[in-house]
Amino acid sequence: MGQQSSSIGATGRRRILVVEDEPAIAGFVRRGLVFEGYAVDMADDGPAALACLREGQPDLLILDVMLPGIDGLEVARRVRSVENESDRAPLPILMLTARDAVPDRIAGLDAGADDYLVKPFDFDELLARVRALLRRGQSPRAARCSRYADLELDLTARTVVRGSRPVTLTAREFDLLALFMRHPNHVLTRRQLMDRIWGDDYFGDSNVLEVFVANLRRALEAAAEPRLIQTVRGVGYVLRESAER
Ligand code: CA
Repeated sequence: MGQQSSSIGATGRRRILVVEDEPAIAGFVRRGLVFEGYAVDMADDGPAALACLREGQPDLLILDVMLPGIDGLEVARRVRSVENESDRAPLPILMLTARDAVPDRIAGLDAGADDYLVKPFDFDELLARVRALLRRGQSPRAARCSRYADLELDLTARTVVRGSRPVTLTAREFDLLALFMRHPNHVLTRRQLMDRIWGDDYFGDSNVLEVFVANLRRALEAAAEPRLIQTVRGVGYVLRESAER
């Protein structure tokens, strides 16, 4: 047990360290990532993860929160602390959290994770996050800016421009738009949107999401631009060009 490390040097494959103590999930993630062509190292507890990281820096860390020995939050904190001391480029960290554990998600992001995924998750969802985080690592500009149609969103400055017109949004409207921009042309269900933006802060079946989407549309269409956030009746919303208004 502990760690299983392989060193694939000059093949140019992106290297991912997966830290997960549940064998079924670890196996499922490892097989999928290997199939996709990534070089994968595994660790099944916190100390093994830190040992792996001392041996060499992967391109991405997938880190479960609940781990024996040293938990994922502490591993993430130590990674960030070493980076701060050594001027090392930040290692992208994708945190895996248990369902309905909002404090976990917040704590994960606070500890230095770049993104999180709630268990159980689809492998495709994991893969999408992995690709996005690796792209971000390759090109700092890609991390800061995301673009769709005539819409440009700067994640660092938290600004939005439509064409050449600056768009003013509230913090949650910005988060909602950023979520759509990460999944262009993908229908996001009401549940997904609520979970990702509000988590457990949201109570009952109010129309809070509809109100936010309406406000977001109003801001994005203030100069009579075409609609980009489309309603998918009975399901949710999608960021997509050209649909009936
Ligand atoms: Ca675990």
